[in-house]
Amino acid sequence: MANDNNRKAILVTPEDCIGCRACQVACKSWNQLPGISTKNNGTYQNPPDLASAAFNIIQYNEVPSQENPVRWLFVSRRCMHCEDAGCMTICPSGALYRTSEGAVAYDRDKCIGCKLCVNACPFDVPRYDAENKVTKCHQCTDRTTAGMQPACVKTCPTGALRYGDRNELITVAKKDGFGTIYGENDLSGLGSIYAFKEEPKLYGMKENPTIPSSVVFWHTYLKPLSFIGLGGVVAAAAIHYLAIGPHKEKEEEV
Ligand code: SF4
Ligand code: SF4
Ligand code: SF4
Repeated sequence: MANDNNRKAILVTPEDCIGCRACQVACKSWNQLPGISTKNNGTYQNPPDLASAAFNIIQYNEVPSQENPVRWLFVSRRCMHCEDAGCMTICPSGALYRTSEGAVAYDRDKCIGCKLCVNACPFDVPRYDAENKVTKCHQCTDRTTAGMQPACVKTCPTGALRYGDRNELITVAKKDGFGTIYGENDLSGLGSIYAFKEEPKLYGMKENPTIPSSVVFWHTYLKPLSFIGLGGVVAAAAIHYLAIGPHKEKEEEV
C-alpha cells in the first residue's frame, strides 16, 4: 500500500471532456494495443466497452434536455485503482499488486488465468487477452516511475484528465467548485477520482460500489488455506463455483 501522503491519482473532470477520444488513442499507442473490430450499435461510443485491447473508453451518456433533443455527457471509464481493491484481495497468485504510487498494476507472468478478479471488481474492469492473461489500465506505471504523466493524461487537450498528488487534486477540485468528488472515500479511496457539479449517477457512475462479500470470505478463510497446501488454483476454482458461480464470458473478440 502506498503511503497516503505519496499516493497519486488521475482526476477526471467529465464536464471538461469534449469526447475527442485522444486518451483512448494515446493509451493504445503507448501500450501497443491492437485495433478492435466493432459495429455501429446506434451510438458514437466506440468501442462499446472496455476490452483486453482497450484499457480506457469514453462512455457517451445521452440524457434528455430541454434546450436540445439530447444532452451528451462524456465520462472516461477505466480501472479505478481502488484502495480496497477486490481484484488484489482475491488474486491467488499475486499477479495484481500495488505500486509505490498507489496504482493497482499487474505482473502478466504471474497471472494463472483463473478470472476471479473479474467478479471481484465492483466496476467490471479486468479483461483477459488471447493468452488468458489479465489486462487493464495500470495507470501507466512504466511512465510515472520515470517521471512522466500517464499517456492518456499527457494527451488530453482540455485538462479533463489530470495526474498528480491525490490530496492536492481533491483540494483543487473542491476549490474549483466541484461539490462531489466521486471516489474520495469509496472503497477507502479510489485512485481514479471524478469531479462533478451534478449527480454522478447522471454520468452513469455506480452508486455505493462495494466488494462482493464472497471476496471477503475468500480473503479471510480460503486464501490462507491455499498457502498451506490446497493450492491456489484448486481453492480459486472452489470459491468461484461455490460463492460466485461460473464465469460468464463477455470479452470482445480482438
Ligand atoms: S477497479 Fe477493479 S480492477 Fe481496478 S483496482 Fe478496483 S477492483 Fe481492481
Ligand atoms: S493511465 Fe495509461 S494505461 Fe491507464 S488508461 Fe491512461 S494511458 Fe491507458
Ligand atoms: S482526451 Fe480528454 S477531452 Fe478528449 S475524450 Fe479523453 S478525457 Fe475527454
